[in-house]
Amino acid sequence: MSETPDFAAYAQPGIRGLRAYDPGHDLVALRREAKGALTELGSNENSHGPSPLALQAARNALDDAFRYPDPLGGDLKRALAERHGVASSQILLGNGSHELLMQFAQVFAGEGDEVVASRFGFAVYALAAQAAGARLVLAEAFSRDAAMPLGHDLDALAAAITERTRLLYLANPNNPTGTWFDADAFARFMRRVPAGIIVVVDEAYAEYVDAPGWRSAIDALPSHRNLIVTRTFSKAHALAGLRIGYALGDAEAIAVMERVRESFNVNGPALAAAAASLADDAHLEAGVRATRRDREALAQALQSRGLHVWPSQTNFLLVEFGPATAGIERRLLEEGVVLRPMGGYGLPDCLRITVGRADENARLLAALDPAMGQGHD
Ligand SMILES: *Cc1c(COP(=O)(O)O)cnc(C)c1O
Repeated sequence: MSETPDFAAYAQPGIRGLRAYDPGHDLVALRREAKGALTELGSNENSHGPSPLALQAARNALDDAFRYPDPLGGDLKRALAERHGVASSQILLGNGSHELLMQFAQVFAGEGDEVVASRFGFAVYALAAQAAGARLVLAEAFSRDAAMPLGHDLDALAAAITERTRLLYLANPNNPTGTWFDADAFARFMRRVPAGIIVVVDEAYAEYVDAPGWRSAIDALPSHRNLIVTRTFSKAHALAGLRIGYALGDAEAIAVMERVRESFNVNGPALAAAAASLADDAHLEAGVRATRRDREALAQALQSRGLHVWPSQTNFLLVEFGPATAGIERRLLEEGVVLRPMGGYGLPDCLRITVGRADENARLLAALDPAMGQGHD
């Protein structure tokens, strides 16, 4: 016997090949250096901020910090059930939707199973499949010159399904591309997917969509028991720091997922804030309206600088800067503007830019011209 456990070798097969999450930048250290002047446009947060009613509800809930939160999340589930026209038993609450996305693979796929996702899809799907010990099968995305460049090719996704497929992840709209698919394309796709395969549609950015023809997959839940839809309070609801998201699906699927959910995975202030935020549509809509408007303005400003900007239905833009990308990103960082490098997604010539408040977008554009002007490196 060796003197210490061989930790790396004891890790389950899927976990041996994983690397821990790389947050990109140490934002706390950057904030300290920038003395409050940082422009943070790297994480798709909503800097218009949460509903004041949500913040007040979270503060009130702190009075009960000595108690465990409601392990059932009953009040919030009732509000969500009413909002989405489903039963409470069809709702699963998560410590962010990230937690749930990981657990779907943990619960429904393992050694010998396959999990299908799209190239240029959200990084968590690959991580979830590998951590569960399942085999990740990546379907090719649309090509760069397609109508929805690098977006999910639903035909390719359906064609990637084999006898071993258990689970399929897709995002609509997608991160990091900002691309989307419409209700007709999704209906055709679901007709092709065998009913025994679980389809998880991640709708983290649903509130930002204004494309005609787009419909939430929630509408398709009654006709597809194999469908699960995830949502989050991190983006349009501006509660990323409180960590709360949810999944909607067949009551039996949710009941199976409940077996691995940590009983108190969502804390009291998060439960209270989410419920209050749901009741403040006016605040949500004001932020969404501003973001949609500024998304177009920012896209045009970037295009006028000769940059390729992907069509987006989210609160961010994927932008191609070419071979000078790394240098531009570094110089922007020196000026206190944080964007998200895309090398990890196989798009090293691109940066992902959150659409912030108008003042933040202006600071980005002001810093961008000198950063781009300094030539290639
Ligand atoms: C931001 C994001 C999420 C949300 O994650 P949370 O854990 O709910 O904060 C989920 N999916 C995608 C594609 C995202 O971009």
